Amino acid sequence: MNVVTRFAPSPTGHLHIGGARTAIFCWLLARHYGGRFHLRIEDTDLLRSKQEYTDSILASMKWLGLDWDGELTYQTKRMDLYRSYVEKLLQNGQAYWCSCTAEEVEAMRERARAVGKKPRYDGHCRNLNLGPGEGRCVRLRCPDEGKIVFDDMVKGRISVDVSELDDMVIQRADGTPTYNMAVVVDDYEMGITHVIRGDDHVSNTPRQILIYRALGLKEPIFGHVPMILGSDGAKLSKRHGARAVIEYEKDGLLPHALVNYLVRLGWSHGDQEIFSLDELVKLFDGTHLNPSAARFDVNKLQWLNAHYMRSLPVSELARLVRPFAVEEGYGELSQERLEGLCTLFRERAKTLVELAKCFAPMLCKASELTYDEKAVAKNITPETRERLTRLAAVLEKTDPFEAEHLNEVFNGFVKDNNLTFKEIAPALRTALVGFMGGSHLHDIMAFLGREETLARIARAASL
Ligand code: GLU
Repeated sequence: MNVVTRFAPSPTGHLHIGGARTAIFCWLLARHYGGRFHLRIEDTDLLRSKQEYTDSILASMKWLGLDWDGELTYQTKRMDLYRSYVEKLLQNGQAYWCSCTAEEVEAMRERARAVGKKPRYDGHCRNLNLGPGEGRCVRLRCPDEGKIVFDDMVKGRISVDVSELDDMVIQRADGTPTYNMAVVVDDYEMGITHVIRGDDHVSNTPRQILIYRALGLKEPIFGHVPMILGSDGAKLSKRHGARAVIEYEKDGLLPHALVNYLVRLGWSHGDQEIFSLDELVKLFDGTHLNPSAARFDVNKLQWLNAHYMRSLPVSELARLVRPFAVEEGYGELSQERLEGLCTLFRERAKTLVELAKCFAPMLCKASELTYDEKAVAKNITPETRERLTRLAAVLEKTDPFEAEHLNEVFNGFVKDNNLTFKEIAPALRTALVGFMGGSHLHDIMAFLGREETLARIARAASL
C-alpha cells in the first residue's frame, strides 16, 4: 500500500505532547508501510509564527527519533502555488470574488441567528460576477444540497449535511489563502494519502473535501485523533504534569519512554504496554486507534521511564546521558567510562539528570570526595579502620583488578577474617563513595581502579 503522511505543525509554540502523539502516529504509519513521512511548517500566521518555535519543533522531532523524508515545506514559501489553485477555482466557476465586509457578514449571521437558523454567509456575492478588487476575498461555491461522507480512520463514518456549511473564504482580501485552502493544496501537491491530525480539525475536513471536489481531486483518507485530557478529565494543562516535549528532554526523560507512552495513549495492541520502536513500526498499521479521549497519567509515564532506564542497552543509555554529564561539568568522558557509570547507577536513577548526578563521587579524586557525616560517624570506627587497612593490603596484590575477581577476593577476605559483611561492607562503601549508596562494591572498585580505590580507603582510614 502506498502511504504518504505528514505532520503539519504551526510554529506558534513548542511541540506539546498532543502534537507529538499525532506526529508519532503519522511517522509510524509511514514507516509501517515503507512509505514517506513529510514535515510541513504551517507558518502563515505571520504574527504568531516564530523561527525559534520552528527550530524547537524540529529539535523535538529529532529527539523523539522522528526523521522526515525530503525537504521541509514552509507554507509561506508557497503563496503563488495557493493563488494558482484559487485561480483554477475562479476559472471553473467553483469560486467567486466577494466584496462583503466583515460587518456585513456579521450582520447576515445575526439575521440568521434571529430566526433560529445557523449563522452563515448568505451567498450575497455568489452571482454578482465580481472581479478582483480592493478588500475582496474569494469564496468557494458550496453545493446547495447533499451530504459529505467520509470514513475516518479513528472515528468511523462521519456524515455532514452541506446545509451545515456555507460559502467559505478560501483567499483573504490580502491575497493569502485560508488554512483550509492551503492545506488542501499542500496535501495534494505532496501526494499525502493519509491525513492524521487532532480532532480539533474534524469540522474542517468536510470543508476541505469540498475544495478537493471543486478542484476535481481525490481526497486522502482522514484520521482524527481525540484530545489528550488531564487525569481528572479536564483539558490537559501543566497542572496535570503535562509539558512541552522540550521540557521532558531537559528533565532527562528518555525519548523512547515518551514515544511508548504517547503511542499507547490512543492506540492499543491487546494489553501490551511496552513496545520497542521496531515493534511499534511492525504493529502500527493505522487500526486500533481509540476514538475516545485518553487521559494523561504522569505516573505511568514515569513508570515507563524507569523501565527504560533499567533496560535500554547500556551503550544507548550512555549516549543519552552524555549531554547531562557535560552539564554536570565532568569534562571529557569516553563512551566506555560512561557505560561503566551507567551500569553502576542506572537502577538508582529515575531520570538522566539524576543518573548524571550519581556519577559525581566516581569522577573526583580521593582528596575531593565529600563524605556524608552520618555515614562516617556510623561506619568508620576504630575497628573498621583497622579492617579497611588490612583489606587494602590484600587489594594491593589483587590481580586482575576486575569486578568478578574483586568480588571473590572480597568474599574471601570476609571469610578469612571471620567477619560478617555488615562488619566491613558499610565502611568500605562509605570509604569508596562517601555515602551509603551506589552499586556493588566490586563494581565500584573495578571502575575506580586500584590506585584510586586504595587512596580512598587510606583517606577513610585516617578520618
Ligand atoms: N497546522 C495545524 C495545527 O497545528 C495542523 C493542520 C493539519 O494537520 O491539517 O493544528
